[in-house]
Amino acid sequence: MSHPQPAETKTLRLPSDQETSGRTLGEEELALLAQVIHSGTLTSTKGTFVKALERGFAELLGLEHVSACSSGTSALHTAIAAIDPEPGDEIVTSPITDMGALAPILYQGAIPVFADVDPHTCNVMAATIEPCLSARTRAIVVTHLFGNPCDMGPIMALARARNIPVIEDCAQAFLARHDGAPVGTIGALGCFSLQQGKHITTGEGGLVSTGDPALARRAFLFINKAWGYGDPQPDHYFLALNCRMSELQGAVAVAQLPKLEWIVRKRIELAAQMTAALAGLVGIETPWVDPKNVHTYWKYCLRVDGGVVPGGAVGLARLLAERGISSAPRYIQKPAFMCEVFQKQRTFGRSRFPFTLARPEALDYNHDRFRGAFEALDRILVLPWNERYTEEHVSYIATSIHQALAQLRRTAP
Ligand SMILES: *Cc1c(COP(=O)(O)O)cnc(C)c1O
Repeated sequence: MSHPQPAETKTLRLPSDQETSGRTLGEEELALLAQVIHSGTLTSTKGTFVKALERGFAELLGLEHVSACSSGTSALHTAIAAIDPEPGDEIVTSPITDMGALAPILYQGAIPVFADVDPHTCNVMAATIEPCLSARTRAIVVTHLFGNPCDMGPIMALARARNIPVIEDCAQAFLARHDGAPVGTIGALGCFSLQQGKHITTGEGGLVSTGDPALARRAFLFINKAWGYGDPQPDHYFLALNCRMSELQGAVAVAQLPKLEWIVRKRIELAAQMTAALAGLVGIETPWVDPKNVHTYWKYCLRVDGGVVPGGAVGLARLLAERGISSAPRYIQKPAFMCEVFQKQRTFGRSRFPFTLARPEALDYNHDRFRGAFEALDRILVLPWNERYTEEHVSYIATSIHQALAQLRRTAP
């Protein structure tokens, strides 16, 4: 007599953002790429696609200025260079972020000062930023991690009271909203990434948004070696790099842009399905979303209570991997200040610049100051998320989590 296969032995292949199954790249991108090739103009200084992307994204956000550039890292570099800190000035930021948000601070001669995060969202908060502010604070960078916006009301109130510009790192948060406003329009500048794994992609690429014409001008110049294109007597006005996006990337981005609203809508719908399927699971917390926020789910991040779930996030990840679901316990493994670049101050030659200019308090990486970040990293389990998932994929992931938790409890010592 044959037995039906138990559901738990079937593995389902999930769409992946690293290849075509989990991307929205197709005929539209190919058609515009062909136009660029046929035109023979591959540089954005002469072409039309990057300019169209900049206009299109500005319209989507509902603000005046967007500059495209070569990566999310260069978008952040551009934003910081637009603010133009003095060497040794401080920029308050998050220890749970991509290194691409931190390296540009050091390249511009400024000191990243790390604020702790809310352990539920992994986002910086006004309450954790405030104790990091000093007479030398020149900007605040907030990261809307996983697509879930920071609590911008109190952060903006704090920043405005001290006249400190806020840079929003929206690399993971396309079309997310706080209090009705799209992220990237709330602070002085917004930075987006078009890297392979983000909501929309050109392989590599970035976007900088601002409503401030003076910041927009400096951003444009920084991306273009500070050459005053179109000026009566152009010059290289200040130290700057070539961070331009090419027309090839611009064409792909122009084709990707109209797909963004669908991508975000799908990710939100699928996340709602997931949250419902995990409701009531003991020891598992689904994403905490402020009612003022629209979370656009770059990833779906769980919190696993290791006191209740034997083996915690790492144990759960191991069992999910057996079912073909690759999740990331601890996300970035350790807070950014524990990386060698900060611990050993490896920057320019042996100079340790700009750390040599820092107040000692600005370099205080004492773990007691980062209880939220350590708690968050101990608990989080980052699930890959994708607009091309079907209801079947989501229910497969949810069922796998249920089964894995049961297995962990059964086999616990
Ligand atoms: C991806 C990312 C970046 C860097 O973007 P790149 O395009 O990879 O350079 C910066 N900040 C955050 C939060 C990111 O997720």
